[in-house]
Amino acid sequence: MPLQLPRSPWLTEELDDFREMARSFCQKELTPHQDRWIENKQIDREVWTKAGEVGLLCLSVPEEYGGGGGTFAHETVLYEEQARSGDSAWGVSVHNGIVAHYLLAYAAEEKKREWLPKLASGEWIGAIAMTEPGTGSDLQGIKTRAVRDGDEYVINGAKTFITNGAMADFVVVACKTDPDPDAGAKGMSLIAVPTSTAGFRRGRVLDKVGMKGQDTAELFFDDVRVPAANLLGDQEGLGFFQLMQQLPQERLLIAVTSVAGMEAAVDQTIAYTHEREAFGRPLSKFQNTKFTLAEAATEVAVSRAFLDQCIERHLKGELDVQGAAMAKLWTTERANRVIDDCVQLFGGYGYMMEYPVARAWADMRISRIFGGTSEIMKDIISRSL
Ligand SMILES: Cc1cc2nc3c(=O)[nH]c(=O)nc-3n(C[C@H](O)[C@H](O)[C@H](O)COP(=O)(O)OP(=O)(O)OC[C@H]3O[C@@H](n4cnc5c(N)ncnc54)[C@H](O)[C@@H]3O)c2cc1C
Repeated sequence: MPLQLPRSPWLTEELDDFREMARSFCQKELTPHQDRWIENKQIDREVWTKAGEVGLLCLSVPEEYGGGGGTFAHETVLYEEQARSGDSAWGVSVHNGIVAHYLLAYAAEEKKREWLPKLASGEWIGAIAMTEPGTGSDLQGIKTRAVRDGDEYVINGAKTFITNGAMADFVVVACKTDPDPDAGAKGMSLIAVPTSTAGFRRGRVLDKVGMKGQDTAELFFDDVRVPAANLLGDQEGLGFFQLMQQLPQERLLIAVTSVAGMEAAVDQTIAYTHEREAFGRPLSKFQNTKFTLAEAATEVAVSRAFLDQCIERHLKGELDVQGAAMAKLWTTERANRVIDDCVQLFGGYGYMMEYPVARAWADMRISRIFGGTSEIMKDIISRSL
């Protein structure tokens, strides 16, 4: 029997119908191509345009900007179905759940009308570039510099580990606009950079432990000139505060993917342990298997209940920074432990990449690191205590 969990309270019939559509898209357009994408270290560009055609991009952006007019619940359903389809290559959560929302919240009205429809159709792929070779957790330590020169900003610097980096057409870049150390958080701004701009260059597509089909890349900015109107917000120095406002959603969507990933792994393990035999009986008959699966099912049920609570709070605009940090910390740590236990029950087959549980194990490792590490989540939570 697969896991039986209560229906998430935020679901509706309309979301059930949407889930059917999202599931069929993921099964048809994502699952069959995994091996080729891993080899190419990137997905096919047509996935973005096909997703745009069926309305899967910018789901929670208002229709007047070309989006789907939905909510974070629609985003959640898409990421759950993507995780259950076994795909970790399509960087749609960064595009939909992060980049589009920075523009929606902080870009000037005419820029929103210019940029968001391109992201919604899949003509443009979006990325967000905060991390640098010298700094990740300590965001205030970034060195990428943006200097105002007349009606333009001139950007110089380097970013690394950028999701969608190799294919992105449009990058939201965290820059220092005031390098004075006393400026602290007020020295940072977010600036939108179309990648067709002169001076923008991509480096290597990075060779990762998991998520191997995702085009995580280095980016370089050498005297990149963009209009001053590409600054997000109506003045310089708001970048750090904008990041703090948007990071809860980024962390919640990592939690969504983590819970869906662990649910899928437990279901696969239940099925496998009923089929595989050792010592003349199915693995599922051993007490160790029963206890391991009982613990895993409990971890999933508790994670799902807390995640659902956080999703409901976020849908009401009430999820705070600490709550999102708790959701990310709890679900990513549990997902890593649960999927590792699942691998153990698969035996040697759990270490073979042709088994989805092996890929899920490698893919899930990053969840404790990106979007803020578990240690940074604990630091954030502890500030409220
Ligand atoms: C696959 C992948 C995709 C990514 N996608 C993006 C992206 O799209 N955009 C982007 O900007 N970034 C992205 N990142 C970067 C990611 O967010 C950073 O790697 C992460 O924030 C950690 O930063 P770091 O790697 O510099 O580690 P560091 O900050 O150097 O941390 C190293 C260790 O020190 C610990 N540590 C640091 N500070 C403290 C502290 N104050 N207290 C206790 N412990 C501490 C950390 O927890 C960690 O264990 C991605 C990374 C990967 C691997």
